[in-house]
Amino acid sequence: MPNRMAGLATRRFTDYPVTSVFLDLRPRGTRRPGLVFLKKELSQMKKSLPHRAEEAEWGARDIQRIQEAVAEAQREKANHLAVFTSAKEEFLEKYFWTLAPEADLRLPHSFVRGARPRLYPLALLADRLENFLLLVASQRKGELFNIEAGRITKHWEKEAPVHAETRREKRGAFDRRTGNIHTTFTKRVEGHLQALEEKFFRELAKKTADWAKAGSIRSVVLGADPVAGPPVKEKILEQNGRLEVVLAPIDSKLSPARILAAGVQAFRQQEQERSNFRVEELFSPGKRQVFFGAVEILNVLRETRPAGVLVLDEAFHQEAPICGRCSAVTIQTGVCPDCAGPVERSPLENELVCLAAAAGAEIEFVKDSEALAKKGGAGLLV
Ligand SMILES: [Zn+2]
Repeated sequence: MPNRMAGLATRRFTDYPVTSVFLDLRPRGTRRPGLVFLKKELSQMKKSLPHRAEEAEWGARDIQRIQEAVAEAQREKANHLAVFTSAKEEFLEKYFWTLAPEADLRLPHSFVRGARPRLYPLALLADRLENFLLLVASQRKGELFNIEAGRITKHWEKEAPVHAETRREKRGAFDRRTGNIHTTFTKRVEGHLQALEEKFFRELAKKTADWAKAGSIRSVVLGADPVAGPPVKEKILEQNGRLEVVLAPIDSKLSPARILAAGVQAFRQQEQERSNFRVEELFSPGKRQVFFGAVEILNVLRETRPAGVLVLDEAFHQEAPICGRCSAVTIQTGVCPDCAGPVERSPLENELVCLAAAAGAEIEFVKDSEALAKKGGAGLLV
């Protein structure tokens, strides 16, 4: 998703607007509030289109595309969608998601027409629904899950060649005739079993590293017992030192649903820690530069396009007259004094997300940070 997002972020539609729609299609009781919201917005849009002009045709085409996308999302049983369309420029992008209840996310519906695609909900989803791998490992068995939007999309499992039981049997190798325990024999078998176990752990680590590489995944939740945990973690990091591996006590005998719930919880906790760490970095940046305040950050992003980290408070919302062509924040709507582009009142958080995504910056959302709220709810680390 980040690559497609960067493509959207650089697009501007100044002669004919792009319509950005974001809908949560999940039912509430017997109603689907997303569809009710959409119906109202579409009827308003129809009323505001001019009669018998080219623009009316483009508008009708936009409406048709949005309705088709919603029907397609429902056929695919997706419960969220985002559509970006600008019929004049033959531009159409659709995203569907099926969020599991574990994802525990409610985003407001939105329907906007303007010079910029409304990227904000996508960025928030991308941050909250990052893919990760869950490896549940023990001496008996390894199970690997690929998790997207709180759902298992890929699964692999492997039994250990030698179980703990076998090991216990061998340990008691007892000679009935002499009454001795054959320790030398036991040690030899032990050594052999240990080598097999090493090989098994390495295989689990390799599979995990391969999947992470194939899916550009940066986080692994490792649910393991105290015997398997540390060596498997070490082997994963040997294969790919850039992965973040979080150890979580997840029992492999749990049901798949409970394993998933525990894995998602461990991942979220780690995400929360990463967000907190980002906020701490803003206040002790070392040699890096820090900017606070939405307008200031917007100007830095416009001028130097740094690939840093944008940290946004989830509750941050502010509107200002922003130029659809050059992103300048001006005093009033109308025509931009810098580039003569169209200036409309737009949310600053969306402009920030677009500029950051276009610059290839990382976007991190944080919740309930008093320190960041005091600094205006937005920070940029360069
Ligand atoms: Zn401008």
